[in-house]
Amino acid sequence: STPRGIPLRVQNLRKEFGGITAVADASFHVEAGSLTGLIGPNGAGKSTTFNCIAGVHRPTAGKVYFQGEDITGLRPEQVANKGLVRTFQIAREMEDMTVLENMMLAPRGQVGESLAYSVLPGLRDQVVTQEEDLRERAWETLEFFEIDHLAGDYAGSLSGGQRKLLEMARVLMTDPEMVLLDEPLAGVNPTLEKKLLERVHELRDQGLTFLLVEHDMDIIMNHCEHIIVMHQGKVLAEGGAEDIRNDDRVIDAYLGE
Ligand code: ADP
Ligand code: MG
Repeated sequence: STPRGIPLRVQNLRKEFGGITAVADASFHVEAGSLTGLIGPNGAGKSTTFNCIAGVHRPTAGKVYFQGEDITGLRPEQVANKGLVRTFQIAREMEDMTVLENMMLAPRGQVGESLAYSVLPGLRDQVVTQEEDLRERAWETLEFFEIDHLAGDYAGSLSGGQRKLLEMARVLMTDPEMVLLDEPLAGVNPTLEKKLLERVHELRDQGLTFLLVEHDMDIIMNHCEHIIVMHQGKVLAEGGAEDIRNDDRVIDAYLGE
């Protein structure tokens, strides 16, 4: 199991798709309250690793522990209920909803759809209060990401960068302990990129744990205190920015791209 202070442990993870081995044998852990980076050349297995952790894929072999508990093979909602969430792109059917509606939808599964709500009318007042709390939380979170002025706009009308901020904001509605970010800065302009990274740092300072996948090595080097490098489905190297920058195996892996 996972020692205290280490929320996530991935042990001998393997994922095959038909004849393709996307993740061969990956083992690493992520410290509580850290901003840890996961890098590697295209096809290294980063996204597949994320998806195995978040329950999107069932691993072929290996284990995923979160806060000491074996979460291997749980479904995404079950993993999210434990406090471990990954960002998701705004789905097509969400584009015709407003930004605020998107925010309200994120945690709704836990509240409005409970069986008890329909069976026990006495719960109705409680649910209304929860809805109000959710709405307040949605506004606060939109303000935090400085997209509250877009609350009434359709999600489909947002720029690429604004979408990324909304994706992050949505994830926070579920009150997570740990957030998995898969290339959250792809297609984001420098101003919004800076804003998003500042928010991640603030949330990390408040105790949230982040695992960040990013293709741009410089961003990872400048922002992550611990870096895991994947190559060909395995962990090639781990350490601080200086260790990674000077690691010949890492340089070779990237040159081979
Ligand atoms: P990364 O995110 O590091 O670029 P991925 O995890 O997306 O790498 O992919 C690792 C390897 O697994 C690649 O060779 C990719 O083509 C393959 N792969 C990923 N997902 C699938 C899938 N659903 N079906 C088949 N092959 C896949
Ligand atoms: Mg990827």
